[in-house]
Amino acid sequence: MLFRELADTYERLEATSSRLEMTEILAEAFRRFDPSEIRMATYLTQGQLYPDFNPIKLGMADKMILKAIAFASGAGEAFVQELMLKEGDPGLVAQIAFQNRKQTTLFPEPLTLTRAYRTLETIARSEGGGSQDMKIKLMSKLLSDASSSEAKFLSRVITGRMRLGVSSMTVLDALAVAFAGKEDRGAVERAFNVSSDLGLVAEMMALHGLEGVSSIHVQVNRPLRAMLAERMSSPEEILEKMGGTCAFEYKYDGVRLQAHICEGEVRLFSRKLDELTSQFPDVVAGLKRTVRAESAIVEGECVPIDTNTGEFLPFQEVSHRRGRKHGVQEAMEDYPVKLCLFDCILKDGEDLTDRPFLQRREALMSIVEPDDSVTLSEIRVLSSADEAQSFFQEAIEDGCEGLMAKSLADTSVYRAGNRGFLWIKYKKEYRSEMNDTVDLAVVGAFAGRGKRKGFYGALLMATYDVATDTFQTVSKLGSGFDDANLAALLEMLSGDRVPERHHLVDSKMEADFWFQPRLVLEVRGAEITLSPIHTCSFGSVRPDSGLAIRFPRFTGRFRDDKEGREATTSQELLAMYQAQLKRVE
Ligand code: ATP
Repeated sequence: MLFRELADTYERLEATSSRLEMTEILAEAFRRFDPSEIRMATYLTQGQLYPDFNPIKLGMADKMILKAIAFASGAGEAFVQELMLKEGDPGLVAQIAFQNRKQTTLFPEPLTLTRAYRTLETIARSEGGGSQDMKIKLMSKLLSDASSSEAKFLSRVITGRMRLGVSSMTVLDALAVAFAGKEDRGAVERAFNVSSDLGLVAEMMALHGLEGVSSIHVQVNRPLRAMLAERMSSPEEILEKMGGTCAFEYKYDGVRLQAHICEGEVRLFSRKLDELTSQFPDVVAGLKRTVRAESAIVEGECVPIDTNTGEFLPFQEVSHRRGRKHGVQEAMEDYPVKLCLFDCILKDGEDLTDRPFLQRREALMSIVEPDDSVTLSEIRVLSSADEAQSFFQEAIEDGCEGLMAKSLADTSVYRAGNRGFLWIKYKKEYRSEMNDTVDLAVVGAFAGRGKRKGFYGALLMATYDVATDTFQTVSKLGSGFDDANLAALLEMLSGDRVPERHHLVDSKMEADFWFQPRLVLEVRGAEITLSPIHTCSFGSVRPDSGLAIRFPRFTGRFRDDKEGREATTSQELLAMYQAQLKRVE
């Protein structure tokens, strides 16, 4: 298939912000595409070459792609660089440069999807001396056979900024519509949740339909999407929701790890499915010592500890262990951790996701021989709110955040990638007026003045609205940043800049700068109020008002384990608002 077909589809996707229309466009394209190429097309639509958990990522530096554009279009480097200053998007630069191209190839090679994908793959994989020149050459060759629209999307994908706004959920909708029926959406999503591989799901749907996706199971060394919890604010409420009895566990405050163990080898994945194996050699060694199974997938929270007292330390300590290429050994000694396991998802090759919670807990107990570095989460099955409350106090005294309540029903399966009431979190902050933190996405910013000149003065923050797949503003955030944070923000946000309000952002406020919603910050506020200028849950409480967070303050915690769409949802904030009201009354 020609790459042009894919580029045409992207043009149509780009022209709409309606999820429904995107679904239709994609479904129609999926039906038309050759099934053997649908996997590549799906990854590219997400701006990727492989599923999230594959460490090989696209991400050519702007200056390199600009060189390739200048060379292949004959536009000249100065022109291209100037254009980049104006447009801020290598895709648009390529499009314009190729519209006015001064150079054409005498014997163009057809630009097929396979050729484009393989070249991008070679570029992403090449490293070491001379690789930069080679990457520019390969990209120039590809671009020289491209139309201006193809050049636009190739330049976007190679710089890791596809920005079509097509979420994985929209791709799943489209696959269901294209190859089965809307009512089969659940089966398609299940396959994605247990494999985390959108390309694989697309290929199986295209080749074998529903039968194909139902053959996708949890597999060792392929991380699955984490099961998530709802929140509630009292043990009474939780017990009622759980049918009178449930398991309560300590809620540890650290980094969630999914460990894949196979024939003595251990690999670790984060909540966002990034591989963390090399950063936690102590955890790897601990699991090798304590887990007795041919193969297993276990999940737990990795918490920083004081090795002298055995006590837990604040979460921030463990963040020193992440994202390191060097100094792993030193970091390991300076910031020791303990892994508290709370689930078993696969045991000796058997997928346990369909088993109720207590059976998975038994499986966990049967394969783990705890020691000082790897333990099982503290757990108690309780039916009394008073007992749950004292267990909660114990958890807090032991340095935990609160409790996780887990359903014991027959239906208490491991629901990968889902947030639901099978797990309910009960944290200490929920007990007072909005002392709890929320995780908000940065969607815009305001220029700094005075001491903040040259930095962002304040950020425009948003919650994620699940119903409309949009980001709704909830506050302007200017407090809690130190100088280092301000400098870091400039850098962190530079790749997210968009020339105008991103189409997924719902804002009544005009910001000086706009971003694609990617970066998530932890924010603490004093209370949730109604506001006519913020769009979060607009109209849900009062027709002309949205929700706003008063006196927001950055806690210092960059939630880089979360993506934009994993920010606190507008629905959650509404529930928090309602809970807060109840307490005030
Ligand atoms: P999300 O609910 O999206 O994960 P979050 O990271 O803000 O958002 P938390 O309020 O920290 O969520 O609660 C859920 C997290 O608690 C889990 O993702 C996991 O990392 C952690 N956790 C700690 N102890 C447990 C436990 N015993 N069982 C399950 N999860 C636990």
